[in-house]
Amino acid sequence: MTDALYLEDSTETTFEATVDRVAGDRVVLDRTQFYPTGGGQPHDTGVLGADGDEWAVTGVENTDTIYHEVDGDPPAAGTSVRGEVDADRRRAHSRYHTAQHLLSAVLLAEFDAPTTGNQVYADRARLDCEHDRFSESDLEALEAAVNELVDAGHDVTWYTLDRETAEAELDPERTRLDLLPDSITEVRIVDIDNGDVDRTACAGTHVENTSEVGEFEITGRETAGSGRERIRFVLD
Ligand SMILES: [Zn+2]
Repeated sequence: MTDALYLEDSTETTFEATVDRVAGDRVVLDRTQFYPTGGGQPHDTGVLGADGDEWAVTGVENTDTIYHEVDGDPPAAGTSVRGEVDADRRRAHSRYHTAQHLLSAVLLAEFDAPTTGNQVYADRARLDCEHDRFSESDLEALEAAVNELVDAGHDVTWYTLDRETAEAELDPERTRLDLLPDSITEVRIVDIDNGDVDRTACAGTHVENTSEVGEFEITGRETAGSGRERIRFVLD
């Protein structure tokens, strides 16, 4: 299994690694900072370099392990490579993903509306939740509450817990551990202000303080099925 370095430090975007194997135009490394598509967050892009050669990383998928799709003939197994993740794109995803946690926390606290899905991009995001319909004033209240959490500058931390401990200690409505397949025995937890704001299971990348999220603005809402609302937002 590839060592997923992005789970430890979401701000480090360069790394050294060795090519484990090649599968078509896809490369498996012994370790990587490239985040693979998943959890409503797009994959990182960037480059792999070795001895003056460079390969653009155009896709990253996590199936049985993490595969990096590269342009051109991939580096051979055993090659030492230097990886460089597009830092701007990563940072945008981390800001949006953290904003999504804040919005989910506010939705649960203020509207008893659990999040059912989310998709972040580098310039916008959407979130689906269980709720009949938000009014204009509801949206204004949501926006104000999220911005208050941004301005408060809460610390964001992450760590892994074994699943039994997580199930025993964490709020099931928030963490939704029941949705994870049985094969998952370790759970990654993302915590905002030591759980005072939010504590949820998530394998995405996040900023280390809510102040880094920036100003949060809701750009629209729509019905996302019976009893479900979709909220769209951007960050400044
Ligand atoms: Zn997350």
